[in-house]
Amino acid sequence: MHIQIQCCGVVLMLVLFYFYMRQKRIALETQKAFLTVFWASFICIVFDILSIIVIQQRHVLSEWFAKFIAKTYLITLIGVAVSALGYMCVDIYAKREDYWHDMRRYLVLCAVGVVGTYAAPLYYNYAADGAEVLYTFGPSVYVTYGVSLVLFLRIFYLMRKEKARINPRRREAVCLWLAAWIVASQIQFMYTNVLIVGYAGSIGIMVLYLKLENPETNLDRSTGLFNSGALYQYTKQLFAKERDFAALVIIFENGAYQNVHLERRGSVRMEIIEYLLKLTDVLVSKNAEDEYFILFADPERAEAKVKEIRRRFQTGWGEGGTSLVRPHWLYLPHGSIIDQTENLLYLVRYFRQEEKAFSENDFLCIDKDSVDRMEREREVEQLIMDAVESDRVEVFYQPIFSTAEQRITSAEALVRIRDREDQIVPPGVFIDIAEESGMILKLGEIVFEEVCRFIRKHPLEQYGMHYIEVNLSVVQCAYENLAQDYIRIMERYGIDPGCINLEITESASTNAKKTLLGNMQNLMEYGVHFSLDDFGTGQSNLNYIVDMPVDIVKFDRSMTNSYFENGKAKYVMEAAIHMIHGMNLEIVSEGIETKEQYQTMEDLGISHIQGYYFSKPLPEDEFIAFLESKKAEQGETVCC
Ligand code: C2E
Ligand code: MG
Ligand code: MG
Repeated sequence: MHIQIQCCGVVLMLVLFYFYMRQKRIALETQKAFLTVFWASFICIVFDILSIIVIQQRHVLSEWFAKFIAKTYLITLIGVAVSALGYMCVDIYAKREDYWHDMRRYLVLCAVGVVGTYAAPLYYNYAADGAEVLYTFGPSVYVTYGVSLVLFLRIFYLMRKEKARINPRRREAVCLWLAAWIVASQIQFMYTNVLIVGYAGSIGIMVLYLKLENPETNLDRSTGLFNSGALYQYTKQLFAKERDFAALVIIFENGAYQNVHLERRGSVRMEIIEYLLKLTDVLVSKNAEDEYFILFADPERAEAKVKEIRRRFQTGWGEGGTSLVRPHWLYLPHGSIIDQTENLLYLVRYFRQEEKAFSENDFLCIDKDSVDRMEREREVEQLIMDAVESDRVEVFYQPIFSTAEQRITSAEALVRIRDREDQIVPPGVFIDIAEESGMILKLGEIVFEEVCRFIRKHPLEQYGMHYIEVNLSVVQCAYENLAQDYIRIMERYGIDPGCINLEITESASTNAKKTLLGNMQNLMEYGVHFSLDDFGTGQSNLNYIVDMPVDIVKFDRSMTNSYFENGKAKYVMEAAIHMIHGMNLEIVSEGIETKEQYQTMEDLGISHIQGYYFSKPLPEDEFIAFLESKKAEQGETVCC
């Protein structure tokens, strides 16, 4: 029997091991499992060689010793099979207890296999000359093969049953590895002097290494720090084990390097990276957004380390420490307040935008309350997305009464979302979040289209109405294509643009006033009118009305209420009414709930009244029924 091929296998594995150990690694369970497979295969191939030598020298050594080594080699085959099973299970059982619970019975089977292999007899098959041993056979071999077969069957069973939980690359790599083994053993079975099973095993290990276990795939090429894949795998493992950790995220926003001379930025950046590379007892990873995550496995010691890192940044970089870099810092003292890796990444995305939440030192410590808030917002975002996708955005209409005409002449369209439990969710819950996430553009368009459909289905003049007021969000006002999109929708429904009055708010002006004015200009040329909503909510300013081409000013409910509650507010409101009328604009007073309030507003000369006194916002069919009833009442009044 020849050992050259096996020796090649040993060399191959030693080379692999050298490369593996040279690289920076993280303590991942999968890597531990891979090392177990590696050592099991290595020991197997070494014993393969040893058994060949010992069998050849059995006359010099003892027969008993030769058989013992040959059987030990057989047992190492069981070792390889069980380590392969363990390797497959790391993805399936995130918790160690569950992993050992499942592995226990197979370890018992292996123990039986070990005893059986040693206890059962083993025979030699000799070559024609009768001197050279070709291979071994007999009950001892069958026990080994039997146990290994059970373990392999279990691996294939898990691959099928737990397909969804196993990393597909792992499945593929293990399949290739086992295939190499099986093909090699078939060849060896047919050509008994070609001993390639051990070598095939080492090729299989190389496949695992290249496809899955090369630690280099966890590194960021430009910095040598870990990459986001490594962070993902490591934190996933921490969450699965329910282990607390702390995380510091350093975010290099655009302004971070503004105090560093342009020419020096590259070298300062490298100096920072070198500093991060030297940090001990932490995992530092960098992602594509230039965010650096520093993970502390021991949250107790994290705070002191965080202070030290921040102090280092305060001392400056470059020659003489003259270059100050000011990144944003996000600190999560307890990773256990979130429950999965995806949330950690989402959390960084979320808080990164919260400019106001950062302290003067650009530092933000994330506690349970902030995480709860983030999660609530995320749920609302999901609710909006879900409603948009499954057509559960509804429009309610609140009538507006004209004091001059003494009837309902317009209405405000107000958005609602119907959740999965068929409950109505008011806009107060979701408008801000829809604005932040940009989903308001879609939501606003749905509302506008719905209003156009309504007007087409129920011509307003039929009910003595002139127009419907539709709210525009600040984000929509700053959207370049708003006018052309809305004009296209009105054309599609063939409605008179005079039937539409768009409500803007003052906050719309500060952001992108130019775009807003452009949109207003285009829409007004087309025939749409505008109102100024939320007047009296604090930021309102009479100059703004002068600047804005609006026809109507809407007094917010808070302003109307304070008129009745606060003596001084009366004078403010009266002065505002006087000035607005002086500018030839109309006023809608919102939030009128009682007859007295209505009467006072009418006496003040306010032309339009909106409030629960007339009606709450109503769904389309109820609103139409409301208008019908008003029409009938008016008919009766005229008759009498
Ligand atoms: P808003 O545009 O000022 O709408 C008036 C709000 O006051 C409505 O609340 C209405 O139901 C409420 N209201 C009217 N009269 C009374 C009253 O007598 N008593 C009381 N307690 N409340 C009254 P709603 O429907 O909850 O809407 C709240 C805000 O959400 C709106 O304030 C508007 O800023 C926003 N909104 C509603 N629909 C849309 C929409 O389609 N797009 C955008 N961008 N914002 C919307
Ligand atoms: Mg409004
Ligand atoms: Mg309003």
